[in-house]
Amino acid sequence: MIREDEGPSGQYYRDDFNDHPGRCSAGTTDEDGIWLNQNDGAGTIMCIMVWILLGYSCLTITLLAQTGGISVYQSFIYTILVTMALACHVKTTLSDPGSVPASAVPTEAQRKYDKLSMCSQCQTYKPPLSHHCRICNRCISKMDHHCPWMNNCVGAGNLKHFFLFLVYTWSCSVYCLVLLGWNYFFCASDDCEFNMVLTQLVRIMTLLCIGSFLFTSSMIMNVVYGFMTGVGTIDRLKKKATNTINDSMEEPLRMIDIFGIGPWYTWPFPVDAIFEDYDLVMGFSTPQRLLREQILRERQDEKLQQQQGVNIGSV
Ligand SMILES: [Zn+2]
Ligand SMILES: [Zn+2]
Repeated sequence: MIREDEGPSGQYYRDDFNDHPGRCSAGTTDEDGIWLNQNDGAGTIMCIMVWILLGYSCLTITLLAQTGGISVYQSFIYTILVTMALACHVKTTLSDPGSVPASAVPTEAQRKYDKLSMCSQCQTYKPPLSHHCRICNRCISKMDHHCPWMNNCVGAGNLKHFFLFLVYTWSCSVYCLVLLGWNYFFCASDDCEFNMVLTQLVRIMTLLCIGSFLFTSSMIMNVVYGFMTGVGTIDRLKKKATNTINDSMEEPLRMIDIFGIGPWYTWPFPVDAIFEDYDLVMGFSTPQRLLREQILRERQDEKLQQQQGVNIGSV
């Protein structure tokens, strides 16, 4: 993407022309206006399970606060963490993870240096580091893996939301384990006594929190490894299987290619990232985008020539 020569310095040209179809149909094809994977029944159930489990944990903590086992403020903080986790979950599920459209073409840099390839299933250009997902039935740019808990692929388009979901869910389980642990080991007053129903709820909750803590910890390590090396989960497993993990040209991902160039306070929220160079992040361009950039570049050149003409005239 190229810089505007007008406006405040450092402001980037933002190509916000909407190339996507404005239809209300939900699916994973090029024509669908809303991204939603409907091809996997098990994934849909697991995706709903995340909501049930997080809702259950929130209900238990609220009941604990009502009976005086923990303070209202503590349960309020937990509810905020759960709300953020659920918001990130929705955003990950409903965001296009970086599907490669039929009109995709290599960027200028790729045409010069890379060996170009095509996906035999989609019959589209296959950018480097992209993979074909059989469940979504699309090629996904920088595909990390297909996550059944999200019922969606995790790729360049929704990596930020997925990572935030992991961080918030991890925080939920740690916070909950600390609260319950403190209650169990250090609280001797009558307020900390649970009734029969609550005791059962808390027991299940403790198991859930331990499971979720272990799972999200390992996933966070996976994703952070991907950030630090630029090698996603699928590529890492492939390299391990072929014993070429040490041969790879590892280059850390730039934070602005994950969280965008927006202000820092947008980073913890599941809002879409604005990329400095959309084509570079996605690994492909489209003829329309290339044409719009070319027209803008020509306009900039014209302005520059006019300015130079004025300067020479004034001298
Ligand atoms: Zn494909
Ligand atoms: Zn997928």
